[in-house]
Formats: sequence, C-alpha cells, structure tokens
Amino acid sequence: MYDRILIRYGELTLKGKNKKDFINRVYQMVRDKCNDLEKISFDKRHDRLYIILNGEKYTNVVERLNKVFGLHSYSLVATTSKDMNDIKKLALELSKSIKEEKTFKVETKRSDKRYPLTSMDITKEVAAYVLQNTDNYKVKMKNPDVKLYIEIRQDSSYLYFDKTMGLGGLPIGVSGKGMLLLSGGIDSPVAGFLTMKRGMEVEGIHFESTPLTPIESAQKVVELTKKMAEYAPNRGIKVHFVPFKDLHMKILEKVNDSYKITIMRRMMFRISEKLAKKFGSNCLITGESLGQVASQTIESINSINDVVNIPVLRPLISMDKSEIVKISKNVNTYDISIRPFEDCCTVYVPSKPVTKPKIEKCIREEIFDYESMVDWCVENTQTAVIKTNSSLDLPKEGFEVKIT
Ligand code: ATP
Ligand code: MG
Repeated sequence: MYDRILIRYGELTLKGKNKKDFINRVYQMVRDKCNDLEKISFDKRHDRLYIILNGEKYTNVVERLNKVFGLHSYSLVATTSKDMNDIKKLALELSKSIKEEKTFKVETKRSDKRYPLTSMDITKEVAAYVLQNTDNYKVKMKNPDVKLYIEIRQDSSYLYFDKTMGLGGLPIGVSGKGMLLLSGGIDSPVAGFLTMKRGMEVEGIHFESTPLTPIESAQKVVELTKKMAEYAPNRGIKVHFVPFKDLHMKILEKVNDSYKITIMRRMMFRISEKLAKKFGSNCLITGESLGQVASQTIESINSINDVVNIPVLRPLISMDKSEIVKISKNVNTYDISIRPFEDCCTVYVPSKPVTKPKIEKCIREEIFDYESMVDWCVENTQTAVIKTNSSLDLPKEGFEVKIT
C-alpha cells in the first residue's frame, strides 16, 4: 500500500545559505544511515525529501530515520493515479487499516492547478465515500483523531495520514565540535546525545585509571560510545583515553580527603581543555546536574570551572535524575551505564566530600607538580574511532587501545 516516505526537515526558520547547508546535511545523513538498504531511492525537493521504497519494508527505513537529527516529521505515503475512483478506493483502503472508532477529517492540496475539481470538491467526495463504506469514522473538523491528506500532484496523487515526529534538532556538524567528558555513568552519554541533537559533533574524553579501576569500566565507555555512534555521521565517534592513574594516585596521596574529588575534577578539566585545543574543539561537555552530588553544587561547579578558559556545556544542569534516566533508556545506554563497575570518581573516595569548596583552598591543596603530570597525560592519551560495529578488546593489563 505505502510506497514512499515523505520527510519534513526541522527548524526551517533558517534562511538562505544556512537553510541550504542544513538541508544538504540532513539529506547526506539520511543517505548515510540508509546506505545498506539497496532497493530504496531518493527524490529531493527544496523543502522535503521522499524516500521511494521500491519494495523495501518501511519499518527498516523508519528505524534508520529515528537516528537522524534535523528531521521534523515524516509520513508514510501511498500513491495512485489522479482518477477520482482510484483516489477514493485508496482512501478507503487506508482508512480501513484503522480499527477502532475515530473522528476524522480529509484535507486536500492541489499542486496541479489544472485539475478539474477544486480541493474542496475532492475533500467532500472522498470523505463521503469513506464514511459510506466504513463504520468506525465520524467526521470532525476541529482536532480530529485522524487526518487523511490528499495531494494532487503533476504525476500522481499522494495520500497519507498524520505525521510521526522525528528526532528534531539540527544535523550534526552545523554547531562545531565539543569534547564530552565521558564516564561510564548514566549522565554523560545523555549529555552527549543532547549536544549532538543540537548539531554538535562530539568527541569523548575518558579518564581511565587501570589497574586502580577495573578495565571493565573503560569497556563500558566503549559500549556506550557504540550506542551514541548510531546517531553520528559514518556511525563513528572518536574517544580519547587519558592515562589518569599516576595523577589519580598522586591526588589520593597528597590531597586532603574532603577535597580529593574537587581536585580530581580540576585536573580532568585542565587536561580536557588542552585536548580540546589540540583536537580543534571549542568547548567541553559534562553530564553535571545541579545539586545531584557534592561535586555538583554551584560552589563545586565554580571551583572546578575556575581552572579552564573555555565554555563548558552542561545540558543536564536543570534535569531531575528521573528525566535523565528516561532519555538514557530511550537511547539504549541505560542498561550499559548501570553495570556495576567503579570508575576513578568512585574508587577510594572519601565518604564526606566538601560540598562548598573554596578556590583558595583548592590551590593550597594542589601543592605537587601537577603541571608536568597534566602534560604527560595529554601526550600519552590514546585516541580511537569507535564505530557501531567495532569490537574493541581492552587488555587486562597495561591499557592499550586496539580496534578491529
Ligand atoms: P555520570 O553518570 O556521567 O558518571 P555522575 O552523576 O556519576 O555522572 P560525577 O561522577 O560527579 O557524576 O561526574 C560528573 C561528570 O564528570 C560526568 O557526567 C562526566 O561528564 C565527568 N566525568 C566523571 N568521571 C569521568 C571519567 N572517568 N572520565 C571522563 N569524564 C568523567
Ligand atoms: Mg559518574
């Protein structure tokens, strides 16, 4: 019945060159995501895109469209000739697929202005035909449950029901590149997803402290990245693995218990800023949410932020944990995030971290030669591109990134 999908682009308030760039990127992403579906073809118009199924199952296409940012909505379209009998027959067939009782309305648009009937004539005739031949419809002009759209075009007529909403957002690449501080927890992958949604290309930074922390916690990061990569161009995301163990141990040894976490975070931020500069990115992204834990009070955020000179995006700042969990379930990272392995922020940490750290006190706690250690971390960071189908075996001893 359905032979094509009509796709509407998001944020079409954009104008001129930006709009063109936006549409081209969305189009490329749709093509990229569907590149394993050999039967389908594309018909690109100035403000919409059609995917012609040529026998491909529409569910296969829809599954891929749900991984593309910048799509406002889409509809499954059935086509037929411009003969009124064919249109009525198809309208009835489509309507019968809805089983329960509904209110409905027909709306017609004619782009073929030479068509002998007006839009209103077509609407009336088709609606009357559907009502006469089905039991479960009642006409309702305002806010009906179902709208059946008819478009009379030059070549044929297109019929479809209401829209299904797409992911929205902007296509990845229009908003520059950010470095996502990616732990194995619930929050940071969600923060990554939300910034990608606004068109930002994301690279991960993970601080790994093996063998102080288990290798499985780095493996979790790989698994989480594979899930995020489903939304990325070329199905891949770069992750920088920072060898954090020595600096981590130094902090555990030298820093007053209640300030350990704060200082650890300050070191992470310093290293991340340097990595951002090295890899051509303009900002950091974290999964922090106001007041969620001691290191996320506004005083903590202030003390940690103080060491960098680059914007830090915190897309989860005002979200409740339950809202974050909901998104992480939707993007399939939740089950991976809750696997019980410790990372550097949970291993050997004090039970009473300071909730209102002072910047001057942080500086007094950093009495060791951390600068050379920070530089060493940056120089010895290992980078890997993680793809949805990568298998990345991390060795049990001696951290080394090897992808196949
Ligand atoms: P998450 O669920 O993202 O781990 P969290 O609620 O556990 O967050 P924290 O452990 O306080 O919160 O971490 C706050 C943020 O710091 C994380 O969201 C992440 O952006 C960053 N972060 C923490 N640990 C690491 C790590 N080992 N590597 C990279 N980034 C990290
Ligand atoms: Mg964490």
